[in-house]
This record gives sequence, C-alpha cells and structure tokens, in this order.
Amino acid sequence: MTRAAVGHADPAHLPVVVVGGGWAGLASAIELVSAGVTVQLHEMAPQLGGRARGIQLQACDRPVHLDNGQHLLVGAYHETLRLVTRVTGDPWRVLSARPLRLESTDGLRLRSAPLPSPLHWSLALLDARGMSLADRGALVRLMSVLARDRWRVDPGSTVGQLLARLKQTASLNRRLWEPLCVAALNTTAEAACAQTFANVLRDTLGSDRAASRFLLPRGTLSEVLPEPAAAWLTGRGAGIHLRSRVLRIERHRGHWRVTTASDTFDAAQVVLAVPPHSIAGLLGEANAAAIAPLAALHYDAIATVYLGWRTHRHPSAPPLPPALMLVESARRHQYGQWLFDRGRQQDLQLAAVVISAAGRVGELDARMLADGVADQVVDQCGGLRADWAQTVREKRATFRCLPDRPRIESDHLHREGLEHLWLAGDYAWPDYPATIEAAVRSGVHAAALVLASAAHQPAVAGAAGRGRSANPAAKPTSATRPRGPGRSAPDR
Ligand SMILES: Cc1cc2nc3c(=O)[nH]c(=O)nc-3n(C[C@H](O)[C@H](O)[C@H](O)COP(=O)(O)OP(=O)(O)OC[C@H]3O[C@@H](n4cnc5c(N)ncnc54)[C@H](O)[C@@H]3O)c2cc1C
Repeated sequence: MTRAAVGHADPAHLPVVVVGGGWAGLASAIELVSAGVTVQLHEMAPQLGGRARGIQLQACDRPVHLDNGQHLLVGAYHETLRLVTRVTGDPWRVLSARPLRLESTDGLRLRSAPLPSPLHWSLALLDARGMSLADRGALVRLMSVLARDRWRVDPGSTVGQLLARLKQTASLNRRLWEPLCVAALNTTAEAACAQTFANVLRDTLGSDRAASRFLLPRGTLSEVLPEPAAAWLTGRGAGIHLRSRVLRIERHRGHWRVTTASDTFDAAQVVLAVPPHSIAGLLGEANAAAIAPLAALHYDAIATVYLGWRTHRHPSAPPLPPALMLVESARRHQYGQWLFDRGRQQDLQLAAVVISAAGRVGELDARMLADGVADQVVDQCGGLRADWAQTVREKRATFRCLPDRPRIESDHLHREGLEHLWLAGDYAWPDYPATIEAAVRSGVHAAALVLASAAHQPAVAGAAGRGRSANPAAKPTSATRPRGPGRSAPDR
C-alpha cells in the first residue's frame, strides 16, 4: 500500500517520520509532539528502547525481568531526566538516586559529602579510605588542573597520556581512573579520548553533588522511558509502528519517500535515529560520500553477567551494595568491573556484573565469562557462589571513544545537501561518549532542527503556519546544541 497515495496525498499535511525507537528517536518524537507536530515513528524491533531496554531471561526456571545490559545513569543526565519527568510525571517512581559512592573490593572508598561544590570533594578526600597521601594529592592535582584549564586538554591526546602528564599514581590509575574511564567511555584508558573523559569529569565530579549521583532504574530500563514514552506519544496522536523496518529513504518531489516492508509513504522531514552502520543501506550508493564519515566509527562490546542466588537456600546471602567496583584478573578469567544489586524477584536475589570494552575478551565464550565472574564475586565479596549465572553480550554496544573519531552532528546530512534529513543517536553528540544522555540530547537537538526548518516549510503536519517564535523548541538553544567542532567548546 502506498500511504502517500491515500492518506497523505496533500503535501500540506505530511508527517515528520522518526526512524528508530531507541532513546534518541523517542527523545525526538517527544519534543516534536510537544510542539504540535504529527509524528510517525518506525522501529524494526518488536519493542522500543534499542540498546537500552528490558529483556526477560530464565533464571533457575523462573522468568526474570532484567535489561539487555546493566546501565548506570547519573545526575548530570539533565535532558534525560527532563524527558523522563515529562512522560512519567515523577522520575523518582522509575529511578532511584544515591549519592556518589566509589567503593572497590580492594579497599578503596570515596564518597561525596553533603556540602556545596567544591567543598564536597575536600570533605570526601578527608573521609576517603584506601588512598595514600600521594593518591589524594594526585587526585586533587588532576581535578584542579582540569578545572583551571576549563576542562580543555591537549588535542588528540588519550586518557593514558593525560594521567601521565598530571602525574597520577599507579595505584590511583589502576583503582580509580582506569575503571572510571572504561565504564564511562567503553574504551580502555590507553586508547580513550582525553577530551571526552575531561567532559565527563566536568559534568559529574567537577560539578555539584547532585550531578554525580548514581541513578538506577527501579525496574527495567523499558519502564524508565520507552514504555511511558510510548503511552505518552500514542495518547497525543503519534503513530508508533513496531516491527516496521525502514528499507529505503529517497528524495521525491521536494519531500522524502519512505519505504518499509509493507508500506510506502511520504514525509516532510525525517529524523534518522538508527545506528550509523544502518544508514548506508537506507540511503543507497548515490549518497555514499555524505555517509562516508559515519563508517569511521568503530564499535566495541559490553557484556553483562547476571547472577542469581536462591534466597530460600541461602537466606542471608549475599548482602550486596548498590554498586561496587571489582578487581579484574585476566589470568583467572575474572573480567567483572562493576557489580550492581538488582534486588529480588520471586525467591531470587539478583546482581549484574558489567564487563566493558568486552572486545578484549572476545575469545571467551559466554559460559566461561559467566563462570569466571561467579567465581570472582565469591573471591572478592565472600558469600556463596551464585546458583545461576548468564552472560548477555551486546557486540555493538557503543562506538570506541577514540581521540580521532569523527565528530558528527545532527545536521550533517542536511549540510551535505540531503535537506530535512536529520541525524539522532548517541554518536551525534560530539561532546559525550556513547551514552543515554548523548542519545537523548542529540534527539532533542534533531527535533529543534526540524522545528526551525519547519518554520520555512509549511508542509509539516501540525506545524504548518507556525513560525519559529511560536515554537519554544523550534530554535536550537545552547542547551540543545552540541558542543562539537566549530562550536563554542570544541571536543578535540
Ligand atoms: C550493554 C550496554 C551497556 C550500556 N551502559 C550504559 C550506561 O551504563 N550508561 C549510559 O548512559 N549508556 C550506556 N550504554 C549506551 C546506551 O545504551 C546507548 O548510548 C543508547 O541506548 C543509544 O541510543 P540510540 O537511540 O542512539 O541508539 P539505539 O538504541 O541503537 O536505537 C536505534 C534504534 O533504531 C532501530 N533501527 C535500526 N535500523 C532500523 C531501520 N532500518 N528501521 C527501523 N528501525 C531501525 C534499532 O532497532 C534501534 O531500536 C550501554 C549500551 C549497552 C549496549
């Protein structure tokens, strides 16, 4: 069926089509619908959420509700919190917030103190455990030099080079900076981009106490944004089409013609909220030059090992902290880096152990990884071995956050001549590593670009005749604009 021929023949009433229902696509759709635009969202999977979604696993013969990978959100995720608030009414129904507490099984403990910035760090250092005087001095040096330099570092440098330049101790590198780097950037410190790491520190540890809070989903990730967003969007007239893979997007008489397996329809503008490696297939050979920079992003895996203890067998096992850093031992196949308490479901106590930059352990199969982590948790946390351990591996979890990765922005294709075709995704927010917040910010920014150009393009259904000034989100503001190359604070 060609919907353009039946439902949307009048170009004055064309919708904006969002392709991809991950957090970036959902963010765009929410912003557009908030501004009164008619949106049709197409997601090829049977559920929304993309790389941050709930899944069901079988643990000891019971179904348990977990995620495709353990995620940690932080208080600095301002745009994510804003959208979660919009669609849920109260973000604390779906998220729990805890003051930052960095604690590892080898005795390190650093927790933020209830004081205004930067005093909370002075007190945190006084209260720190497992850190020598030299470690404390090095930590203060790194944070104060970065703040003095306005969080700018040598262009093209790696985190490893930054740590060496700022004379960090071997112990602090191994126990604090390297685990933080691999957790935040999914890239090991010797290869990771120092500028992006500095940006993360600027907006978390370098900001107020609330920004470095840990935010953990109370249930699954789907309950945080994808499910409430779907209800919110459909309640306001947006179309959400699951199992609807977009196959082709072509220019047609001044607008975009979109083809799925079962349908062809026209769109005034399109937000492409799919991973970069999916874009070439949608736009075809004719646009190869415009798409070329996207191919320079390389991906790495993240593995999550879920553990379960039958509580009726071990009534007191195991007492887990909300989040704990583990010590890796490659020799013993113990690759777990962070452990998170996942609470109880039925009679199972559950935990998630994260292995970032998991390409390193590619040769280990899922069973060996799970067994190694189950042993690691016994060795380092005590208690009994888990009754159930299962690895969930996302092969293309995030782009590798390298210093020379291409910085791509939402208007990249539009500037290359593919007008009104906007990009959204975690890779399209150059300031940040691949995170939920980067995905959401890029989605919000792409929506702002749609609205700004809709002011000159009356074909956008719902936005026709509405000028920029009538749309609060229509004009990209500093809050929604990425700080990438050529912007106010280039991420180089
Ligand atoms: C295991 C794991 C752990 C992570 N941990 C963290 C963390 O702790 N904190 C954090 O902030 N971030 C974390 N991330 C990163 C975060 O999940 C991603 O950055 C974010 O979800 C990316 O969202 P996105 O919308 O840009 O892309 P995606 O989630 O990839 O969404 C793209 C969507 O497009 C759909 N699609 C693709 N092609 C088509 C097509 N042709 N037609 C229709 N639909 C299509 C896909 O099915 C997908 O749903 C983690 C990621 C993984 C995998």
